[in-house]
Amino acid sequence: MTVLTYPVSQADNFASRDEPASAETLLRAAITRDFPGRIALLSSFGAESAVLLHMVAGIDAATPVIFLDTGKLFPETLAYRLTLTAQLGLTNVTHAGPSPGRIAATDPDGLLWQRDPDLCCWNRKVEPTDEALAAFDAYITGRKRYHGGLRDALPMIETDDAGKTRLNPLVGWSRAQIDWYFAEHGLPQHPLVRRNYRSIGCAPCTRPTAVGEPVRAGRWAGTSKTECGIHLPHARHG
Ligand code: SF4
Repeated sequence: MTVLTYPVSQADNFASRDEPASAETLLRAAITRDFPGRIALLSSFGAESAVLLHMVAGIDAATPVIFLDTGKLFPETLAYRLTLTAQLGLTNVTHAGPSPGRIAATDPDGLLWQRDPDLCCWNRKVEPTDEALAAFDAYITGRKRYHGGLRDALPMIETDDAGKTRLNPLVGWSRAQIDWYFAEHGLPQHPLVRRNYRSIGCAPCTRPTAVGEPVRAGRWAGTSKTECGIHLPHARHG
């Protein structure tokens, strides 16, 4: 993975400076100027997702939004996806999901997350995301440095191992800035936030966090796993 020279054909070369662009400026340039029709927002419709969804909707409500439905999500997340999509007027939210054949072959009882969470994440997250992104040259994520772990040193602009441009517009945002943005724009919270879920993924692999715990402490708690692998360099599983 390398930091991108971006956008190579533009005089306004973001990569020539550290983090020159506000999140909205970067998004607007990417969506309307640099990758028109070739960029998508990856959204989990999780605890903080409304910020980027709101920004993208304000730039172009028809921007492709890819929602990864692993088949293991909380029902509250599925409901929140409908609420936010309607409230923000997003017109191009599509679902990505696991291959039924792969699930039947490797996870017939739906408990692969207990036996081999990396393979489960591959089946239900990494492979479907790769397939959904095949039609795009660039994509947007909501990752932030304050989430810690491997995200500590995240750049705003990257190239993934498939050569696609990956933008992390909120990389430098804090929880306080997220809270401010929600209040400023009247955005609804994910229903599980009030139950102390601060980072929300699949139901079997997510628990609430206690006061003082890192924001992602509730993800794969009790294991060494910290990322699903979507945004890490990866080779294909058979
Ligand atoms: S987060 Fe858990 S249930 Fe979801 S794909 Fe990964 S291992 Fe499976």
